[in-house]
Amino acid sequence: MTAYKAAWVCPIDRAPVKNGIVEVDGGQIAAVSDQGSGIGNQQISDLGNVAILPGLINAHTHLELSWLRGRVPPANRFTDWVKTLVGIRRGTEQLITPDIVAPVRDAIRELRASGTVAVGDVSNSLAAVEPMKDAGLKGVVFHELLGFKERDGALIESTREQRAAAARHGIQITLAPHAPYSTSVELFRAIRRAVSSSDCPIMTVHLGESPEEVELLERGSGPWRGMLETIGAWRDDWEVPACGPVQYLERHGLLDSQTLVVHGVQLDDRSLERLQALGATLVTCPRSNRWVGVGYPPIERFYRSGVAVAVGTDSLASVDDLNVFAELKTMRYLAPSVPARSLLESATLVGAKALGLDRELGSLTRGKQPGLLAIALPDHVADVEEYLVSGITPAQVTWVN
Ligand SMILES: [Zn+2]
Repeated sequence: MTAYKAAWVCPIDRAPVKNGIVEVDGGQIAAVSDQGSGIGNQQISDLGNVAILPGLINAHTHLELSWLRGRVPPANRFTDWVKTLVGIRRGTEQLITPDIVAPVRDAIRELRASGTVAVGDVSNSLAAVEPMKDAGLKGVVFHELLGFKERDGALIESTREQRAAAARHGIQITLAPHAPYSTSVELFRAIRRAVSSSDCPIMTVHLGESPEEVELLERGSGPWRGMLETIGAWRDDWEVPACGPVQYLERHGLLDSQTLVVHGVQLDDRSLERLQALGATLVTCPRSNRWVGVGYPPIERFYRSGVAVAVGTDSLASVDDLNVFAELKTMRYLAPSVPARSLLESATLVGAKALGLDRELGSLTRGKQPGLLAIALPDHVADVEEYLVSGITPAQVTWVN
């Protein structure tokens, strides 16, 4: 049994405890209290003026894109950003070379140093799986498939070996469709079926990110259509759904409580309410949204709708770093009315639940092994939760155990 004392303990499953003590037994949380459960003072390690909280969950990354850091500049229109990305990345999508893997390892070191314990990582090549295992980073890897012209789920079968080879590293791997503008309904449905009958029935999808996506779904026109035609991916028999992104997926039975809907920048209140009613999780990545030209997400509306909100950074192709605390700072700036505790819960427990990792991670609850973060505090912090969403830097972060 080891016990840690700190100026503040933020268990997430309840209010912060001033002068709190966290007891850890065999790597598991045994108790959180303001005095310790009768343990002698000599056994308590006093960490001083810090806040202890569970490791953070980054619910949306693309670690394999880490080599693109600084190479894809911010854009004013999403399709322009995508064009640059696709141009630089062409021919490398399935590569697992040192040039791609070394930046993944660096990125994992950085995200650990900024307090992240687990990720929901979207991947085409599965290049991040081995580095994740080597670094002890937890999480779920979503093997992303796409193809606007796919007329069935044949792609699932033809990529099965690739997943089987990566699965030997012991990281949970499941399938994911990319987005409605890049993935046919037939492929979407086949992925949903395959995922539902697997031992990791979680699915993630990019949804409602850009106005161009909405235009394509509502009217069948706009820059996305132009781009699909240019690259030869357009389908003449594609029926314009004439509805919004959430309605489109719901119509085809593709949304449920096991779905992580990423971005949602363009979603109206009705769509957010539907996500809430279905029990889906909305993963917000505000800094990336701004970078790729779709504008900031309506964070206050997200929370007002009651939908479960998790936090992601997206990839280093659209954000400066993978620090979830920096994402929280942006969320606080965008949504002053949302309680700091709700934001912290999004970056911990909500993400853990969405990824099926909450038996172990997400809060300092008895029996869990969430990792303990000690965040250095300045003197006289009046509201510790507010401070924790004000922009914590890696220099303030220490892993206690
Ligand atoms: Zn993404």
